[in-house]
Amino acid sequence: MEFRKLRLSGFKSFVEPSELRIEPGLTGVVGPNGCGKSNLLEAIRWVMGENSPKSMRSGGMEDVIFAGTAGRPPRDFAEVVLHAKDDKGEPLDVTRRIERGAGSAYRLNGSDVRAKDISLIFADAATGAHSPALVSQGKIAQVIAAKPTERRMMLEEAAGIAGLHVRRRDAESKLRSTEKNLERLEDLMAGLD
Ligand code: ATP
Repeated sequence: MEFRKLRLSGFKSFVEPSELRIEPGLTGVVGPNGCGKSNLLEAIRWVMGENSPKSMRSGGMEDVIFAGTAGRPPRDFAEVVLHAKDDKGEPLDVTRRIERGAGSAYRLNGSDVRAKDISLIFADAATGAHSPALVSQGKIAQVIAAKPTERRMMLEEAAGIAGLHVRRRDAESKLRSTEKNLERLEDLMAGLD
């Protein structure tokens, strides 16, 4: 998967609609302290489905919406659009939008989808919200200090198998409910004898 463009509106400090081209290869973001470098990385994680307050440096879900400054009123929504191309070169446009009091909604190439669908697309492409391809400040030290289990998770994400764990959990839960249904059916059949 190749990321091509990022569009932000009302997301953290990016109050005005802003667009960034992402060129092939390694991308570095430089700028003075507090100019929004980390917010950009968080926007990429957020559009891929990240919700953890720690990764988003926020207290609640709505904290990603521009909160206003002395001279500017707060916004009612935040929206991030990631334009990417899949491995076959087909466009993959992912939108996440959050409105105050209404939660998050996702769109894939213009159609409404679930958060889970988005996470799986990126997990399968080995570029999820926890992807080691996104290197934030302090991340290198974190990788070095990581416990073996944490390092294994990073490797699994890089290898593109993180999505398989989600599918296994889904399959196990379907199996459990089918087993329950079978037991119930057997009880009912025993009652008919
Ligand atoms: P540093 O180099 O110091 O880490 P940075 O360039 O990574 O800085 P960020 O941490 O991305 O900068 O941006 C911080 C700025 O974003 C702060 O000025 C903060 O007030 C602003 N900010 C964060 N969340 C919001 C929000 N919800 N509404 C408005 N501004 C916000």
